[in-house]
Amino acid sequence: MKIAIIGFGAAAIGFIEKIKDSDNEIHVFEKSKDVYSSSISGIRADGKLFVSKEMGGDIEVDITLQEKLVEYYISKTEDRKFEVGSSFTNKEYYKQFYAKGFQPILSEFFHLGTDQLKQILFKIYEDFKSYKNIHFHFNQNIQDLEILPGKVLLDNDDAFDKVVVAVGRSGHKLIKTIINKFPEVVTDNTKVDMGVRFELPNHIVNDLNKEMYEFKVKYKSKTGYMVRTFCNNPSGFVVTENYGDFAMVNGHAKLKEKSKNTNFAILTTVKLTHPFNDPIGYGSHIAKLFNLLAGERKVILQTYKNFKFSKRTKHLYRVEPTLERDNYILGDINLAFPRRIAESIIDFIENLDVVIPGIANDDNLLYAPEIKFYSNKLNNDKFEDLKFVGDCSGETRSIIYATAHGWLMAERLMKRSENE
Ligand SMILES: Cc1cc2nc3c(=O)[nH]c(=O)nc-3n(C[C@H](O)[C@H](O)[C@H](O)COP(=O)(O)OP(=O)(O)OC[C@H]3O[C@@H](n4cnc5c(N)ncnc54)[C@H](O)[C@@H]3O)c2cc1C
Repeated sequence: MKIAIIGFGAAAIGFIEKIKDSDNEIHVFEKSKDVYSSSISGIRADGKLFVSKEMGGDIEVDITLQEKLVEYYISKTEDRKFEVGSSFTNKEYYKQFYAKGFQPILSEFFHLGTDQLKQILFKIYEDFKSYKNIHFHFNQNIQDLEILPGKVLLDNDDAFDKVVVAVGRSGHKLIKTIINKFPEVVTDNTKVDMGVRFELPNHIVNDLNKEMYEFKVKYKSKTGYMVRTFCNNPSGFVVTENYGDFAMVNGHAKLKEKSKNTNFAILTTVKLTHPFNDPIGYGSHIAKLFNLLAGERKVILQTYKNFKFSKRTKHLYRVEPTLERDNYILGDINLAFPRRIAESIIDFIENLDVVIPGIANDDNLLYAPEIKFYSNKLNNDKFEDLKFVGDCSGETRSIIYATAHGWLMAERLMKRSENE
């Protein structure tokens, strides 16, 4: 078979790794100009590889495959240097959080660190490139495709027996074009996660960081919204990310350079119902509102006390922000978030403070907006020759789940062709 894979990110890596020894002809189309380009794939910041049945995606991926894929990425590091941890295997912690209404999320993880991700990606690319049946085409931003009987045509006029779309979230334009053509391919699109990046001194969460590095909990707040922690970065850094028409906040940690603060996201899941059908539009408008208040490409920083009492922050006290000064203004997050979201976050922090004293300190920092978009869920049974893998399919949200999705799709296509 002549197979095209659009995008060279985590899902494509899983797909190619599984299929590379077959006699299929594989063409990889990637919009970045080359493999060194920093925008290639979501595997560019932090690099935490999770092994969990409870997070990372909505597809079923057995633990053995998850572990195998973690080992695959680790095998591409220079000298097998990484940090490890596991969330809530310590029963005492589990019980403490559970008793206060939190749902602890069980997971194991392996932190590679932003600093070595580029080199890992390069090693993977070098390996794939050495295969005669694998062809890379960089600088190819695929914008459209056409489904013909037994073939799929890409906009560059190449025809393929199968096309696997693996464009991640940054490929939303292509996905939108496909959805406009085939609206029936969408099965669900109603959710968006909105919240803040929270930053506090390491010592407040030191025991927890040492015990599990990444603590993940969910909490049903008094507003009815589910709130969760996401992406904990001990001794980490807060950064802004540019999404084209707006900027948002994020956090990461490095293997070598360390700060005095820990940051993690506190996210509220907003699930809306008919006739609403544009969670990305809703989240983007709120993000733009923040940028309107803060100035182009800037986010709002506020102390916890001021956030709670809806007062603009004018001065900081003991906690020094790790986000570069040019990227934020001191302000009031309440001017841009709907009340129910703000109340959910406050309720979460107040309750977390009971388990971890110091979380609700007046001078801890909140940066906003941090928004996580869920991609539309796409139906992979709709077309015989066109498949969607990784984050663009709406089924995954992590490196390991996206890689596994690609791997499992390759397995499925190879089995099908054997049976034909
Ligand atoms: C800042 C950041 C940090 C993250 N940290 C972690 C983490 O620590 N742990 C974790 O598990 N997950 C993390 N994630 C999520 C993780 O990166 C994604 O879940 C995963 O990479 C999804 O894999 P994917 O293959 O679906 O998409 P991606 O890895 O994003 O790859 C998609 C590729 O498609 C290309 N592309 C897009 N559109 C086109 C087009 N039209 N034509 C050709 N090519 C195109 C893109 O350039 C990209 O290379 C992070 C994400 C971000 C943004």
